[in-house]
Amino acid sequence: MKRERLDQLARQVTLDAGRREWIAVRIPFTGMVLGDIPLAQEADVDLSINRARAAQPGWAALPFASRAAVFLRFHDLLLQRQNEVLDLIQLETGKARRHAFEEILDTAVVSRYYARRSEKLLRPRRRKGALPVLTRTWEVHLPVGVVGFIVPWNFPLNLAMTDAIPALLAGNTGVLKPDLQTSFTALWAVALLREAGLPAGVFPVVTGEGPLLGPALGERVDYLMFTGSTRTGRLVARQAAERLIGCSLELGGKNPMIVLEDARLEDAVDGAIRGCFAGAGQVCVSIERIYVHQSLYEEFVARLATRACALRLNAALDYSADMGSLTSERQLATVEGHVADALAKGAKLVAGGRRRHDLGPLFYEPTILTGVCGGMKAYAEETFGPVVSVYPFAKESEAIEAANCSRYGLNASVWTRNALRGIRVARQIRAGSVNVNEAYAATWGSVDAPIGGMKESGLRPRHGAEGILKFTQTQTIAAQRLMPIGPARGMDASFHARWMTRLVKLLRHIRVLG
Ligand code: NAD
Repeated sequence: MKRERLDQLARQVTLDAGRREWIAVRIPFTGMVLGDIPLAQEADVDLSINRARAAQPGWAALPFASRAAVFLRFHDLLLQRQNEVLDLIQLETGKARRHAFEEILDTAVVSRYYARRSEKLLRPRRRKGALPVLTRTWEVHLPVGVVGFIVPWNFPLNLAMTDAIPALLAGNTGVLKPDLQTSFTALWAVALLREAGLPAGVFPVVTGEGPLLGPALGERVDYLMFTGSTRTGRLVARQAAERLIGCSLELGGKNPMIVLEDARLEDAVDGAIRGCFAGAGQVCVSIERIYVHQSLYEEFVARLATRACALRLNAALDYSADMGSLTSERQLATVEGHVADALAKGAKLVAGGRRRHDLGPLFYEPTILTGVCGGMKAYAEETFGPVVSVYPFAKESEAIEAANCSRYGLNASVWTRNALRGIRVARQIRAGSVNVNEAYAATWGSVDAPIGGMKESGLRPRHGAEGILKFTQTQTIAAQRLMPIGPARGMDASFHARWMTRLVKLLRHIRVLG
């Protein structure tokens, strides 16, 4: 995409409260400048929130079908124009095109799902009333108001859009704060939403420094939707608690895979390659620990190493690469730090372990370690790079215990020929999503079911009914008729107490009413 077009996007989509600085965004593949992004200030955040607040009543008052039509048009336009944004995603993140394409697919699926399902999910529901027949009760879902979306760089299209879609369909407006590194993708997506019919003011974008704009957003919005590290998530949660507003947090992970002795070995190796090295391991649900039954361990490690070494790494804006580059110097430093620390403390390098300057400044080889143990950074900390540790186990229960031995609980994967056994093992793993015979895509793609983190991996999942209801306030409306709940006018209180006792005893025996 041409520099002028990027500049136009930045000027068109962001709001300007006054003079401000611009900062260059660099292409991870080459280190060259992609374009300049405005560094918004707190005044820009205020302006954006004011616009979103002013637009909210009108947007919420539209018939549901009009809101849904915007997202169905967005779905179609996204699929038509995918090459434009695939280039942008690759240029901003350094990921291979096949991994960038996952963002297109998921964003389209989520748009369609919520455009079709939200009306039903949001519909007022009849509930059992306080007194049968005499009290008619409804549960109603109202928009919370203006939602602040803070998103990271690793899925710049998907994470900027797929939480916003249900939130906006529920009648909220929002303000989006993308990561600086990947702001152009977010701006492109919001421009496309406008082209699909989203009224101006419903979803402004502020680009700039997270530590400045994130708290400024949290100061005034009615709900915070945060995706990022557990460390920043805690700050966001603290601010939300202080202001007594809701928040949803999608955080980090140290995701395990278990390969049971009855697994199909080659399928499990395939799954591990996808799970560990998609997006160069910079996927929140990436696999970073693999527990393999001792009967398969040697063979598994050998095959995984062969496959990892054969992966094609390049910076091409086409589908020829199996893996791209890391996104930032910071990420590369973490990856190198974890590998160096593990090797210094006695771990063994089975594959990879090197920067690939010959391919670009931030390329790093798919890396496999064995002999990783407690005290090494790679053992328990999230690496967020193309590095996986493989461990043998003897008994199923040992593997489950090891998988659960983490402060995180985001994603897990179990491999077995016996699906029922896989599900039984899955139910013992403390993770918000567990895939049987897949690494992460089966749960992630099942958008009708909620997906999120347990333990320090998050709070309040996305997708499914929960993924839209969290952006609403629940209101209960109950209409009383014929007689009040307390003693009727002139009724003796002791008579009322006896009458109510009889009624309550009766209800104990009538299942349909109780
Ligand atoms: P990060 O926490 O550093 O940044 C995330 C976002 O928060 C960015 O937009 C950043 O600008 C903003 N931010 C920075 N300081 C802030 C502050 N003080 N207040 C509010 N916002 C602030 O995370 P990252 O390193 O960019 O992203 C990688 C992390 O995100 C990994 O831990 C990964 O597992 C996690 N992640 C989780 C999911 C999920 O769905 N669970 C998805 C993607 C990434």
